[in-house]
Formats: sequence, C-alpha cells, structure tokens
Amino acid sequence: MRHAATRDEKGALAAYQSKRDFRVTNEPEGRLRETNEHRFVIQKHAASTLHYDFRLECAGVLMSWAVPKGPSTDPSQRRLALRTEDHPIDYLDFEGVIPEGQYGAGAVIVWDTGRYRNMTRDNDGTEVPLERALEQGHAKVWLEGQKLIGGYALTRLGTGTRWLLVKTRDEHANSRRNLTRTAPESVLSGRTVEQVRTSGAKGHA
Ligand code: MN
Repeated sequence: MRHAATRDEKGALAAYQSKRDFRVTNEPEGRLRETNEHRFVIQKHAASTLHYDFRLECAGVLMSWAVPKGPSTDPSQRRLALRTEDHPIDYLDFEGVIPEGQYGAGAVIVWDTGRYRNMTRDNDGTEVPLERALEQGHAKVWLEGQKLIGGYALTRLGTGTRWLLVKTRDEHANSRRNLTRTAPESVLSGRTVEQVRTSGAKGHA
C-alpha cells in the first residue's frame, strides 16, 4: 500500500533508486522528506520519446506522471498521463543531461514550477487529502506556476497506470494558447531542452 510505503524510505523511493546508477547519472539520489510544502514541477524530458514529467510534492516524495503531449490550457484537450515511479523531492529543480545508457537518457529542463493547492472535495464538500485522492484515482489541484495557472484534474483510467490530465473550466482556461509550443524554455535557466542537450553533461562528475 502506498500509504505504508511512504513511511518507509526504502519502500517509497526503491523503484526510483533501483532504476539508476548514481555513480553515472547526476540526478539526485534523494530521500524521503516530509515537508509542509505543496510544490510542483513539470520537466520537459527529451528521452527516446519526448514527454513532460508532471510531479506533485506529496507524502515526502514527488508523485509523478509522464505526459507525452504535455499539459494543455484547453479543457477540451484530455492529455494521457502515465503514472511513473515516485521521485525524491530533490528532483524539483533537476535540470541536465542523463547520460547515454542510463534510465531516461536525454536532456531535462524545468519547463514550469510553482506551488499547488489541493482542490479535491468529496460529495459533502470536505477536502480529500491529496494522497488519498490519488489512491482513489481522482484529484484536482490548482497550479500557481510561472506558465500554468488554474485548476487541473487527474483521473485514473481503470486500475492501471493510465491517467488523464485535463484543464478544468475556470478563468484561466484558454483554448487558443499552446504554451508547450510558444514557451518551450526552462523557467530556471531560460534554456531550451535542445540547448541543454548540446551543452553536454554539464555539471556531471
Ligand atoms: Mn521522464
């Protein structure tokens, strides 16, 4: 059970750590860190297939989804989001090149980051804690990013790893914007994922 696993550092991040050789990759090894913060990050990741990794700080880790087409500001666009292994909170500002031969090899930039509020409510209007909402397969968050603002819904399809990420209908919904195209750069460094890739494994030991 996820709840039990997050109380146990090895259990919470075992999948993440077992996929990576930290003598080779400069990704953070990381550890479980209970915080009272509610941060999110969306990393553009030019791996063998380009995708956007959406991560929410929750229960001491970053709960994560790979979104092949990236997030949309258009509520009619339902974006497939594949649940991936929990990442350590230190991954929030990771930007760089994962070396060839390593899991997820390719360039990563912080495409957007900021804070979120949990908007998930039960039928009585009572807030459902995010960890439980995700266990139950449906959550709503309000993002306060540098690019993305407003409500987003995450809904699991059946019992597997397939979810949908959809913009909710609020004052920040906009069907004419295409931020992944018009604002491709990192909010941390201003670099594009292509610039990070050609700069090589900068900062890598
Ligand atoms: Mn990825």
